[in-house]
Amino acid sequence: MNRTPFEYPPRVSLARTPTPLEPSRRIGKQLGVDLYFKRDDLTGVATSGNKIRKLEFSMADALSRQADVVITCGGVQSNHCRSTALAAAKLGLGCRLLLRVPDPHHPPAPESNHLLDLLLNAAPVYVTPEEYRGRAEIFEREAEALRKAGHRPYIIPEGASNAVGAWGYVRAFEELTWDLAGLGWDRGEPVSVVLATGSGGTAAGLLLGSRLIPSNVRLIVVNVCDDRDYFIREIGIICSDFLKSYRLDLEIDPGVDLDIRDGYVGLGYAQSRIEELALLRDVARLEGLLLDPVYTGKAFYGMVREMEKEPGVFGSRVVFLHTGGLAGLFPYAAQMAPML
Ligand SMILES: *Cc1c(COP(=O)(O)O)cnc(C)c1O
Repeated sequence: MNRTPFEYPPRVSLARTPTPLEPSRRIGKQLGVDLYFKRDDLTGVATSGNKIRKLEFSMADALSRQADVVITCGGVQSNHCRSTALAAAKLGLGCRLLLRVPDPHHPPAPESNHLLDLLLNAAPVYVTPEEYRGRAEIFEREAEALRKAGHRPYIIPEGASNAVGAWGYVRAFEELTWDLAGLGWDRGEPVSVVLATGSGGTAAGLLLGSRLIPSNVRLIVVNVCDDRDYFIREIGIICSDFLKSYRLDLEIDPGVDLDIRDGYVGLGYAQSRIEELALLRDVARLEGLLLDPVYTGKAFYGMVREMEKEPGVFGSRVVFLHTGGLAGLFPYAAQMAPML
């Protein structure tokens, strides 16, 4: 194996990697492509999903700064918050979570990810959607309170989607190139890798990886919130911070280097249309693969719709990156019950 032309920063081992690259059993055939699933939903039981790959680098950075407590944020059912709570417990760090809820005076009863956060003793700070938009201030207020109490807080932004977290998906990209070489897919026809984007860090890391490590991969990104322009901007910021922080000389323009397929946000972030949930059900039954409604279900739905609109649009070699999120399925029980 050739050595990579860059050095990874320190990493704490938290994720079960490499994750499997598994062939689709039936759905690929129906879609008329050679389909594989990169199973990043299998990075661990409670650490499952993509966030833990980013947290391996964020947490190493926190430890190198002698932090004793981490603070992060997300929706009340955030997979990222749950992964952070677990990683913190594992490393013996405190954890404080800014959780977005409709009414902070009446936070929802703990279930799914939120239940795991509390089980892991993460301290929740419930905030309104409006306060969440101004969260930089709340992060500072919480960090200051912790410092006053003699702690050393370390702030991890939403989704661990910053320069240091992006290393997790640079590393995943390298892992994927080994997987593809194992299939003989490292030569010849390009390979389309399809993924969901929510806070942009996974896409940014893969994009950086694809520029640092030679491959025949093209990245197809389905946004599950906001729009294409928003992600071009956000992913661009993460990439330029990364290039600056690690002194890498590359020009990256996500508007050119990423194929962002907008149009599948549907009813909004973490809100599902019946046809999206029906596809999630069909994939479960046909393939024995569990997607989640918030991210992977929407990305898979977007991928299928794009293929129907334009057969062959992603070529014949397709890898769907399964980024996890199973716990996010359970709060949909009532909405799904009629279709089961
Ligand atoms: C957070 C998340 C994503 C999106 O990743 P980002 O790096 O935030 O863009 C995709 N899938 C799942 C299951 C997630 O929890």
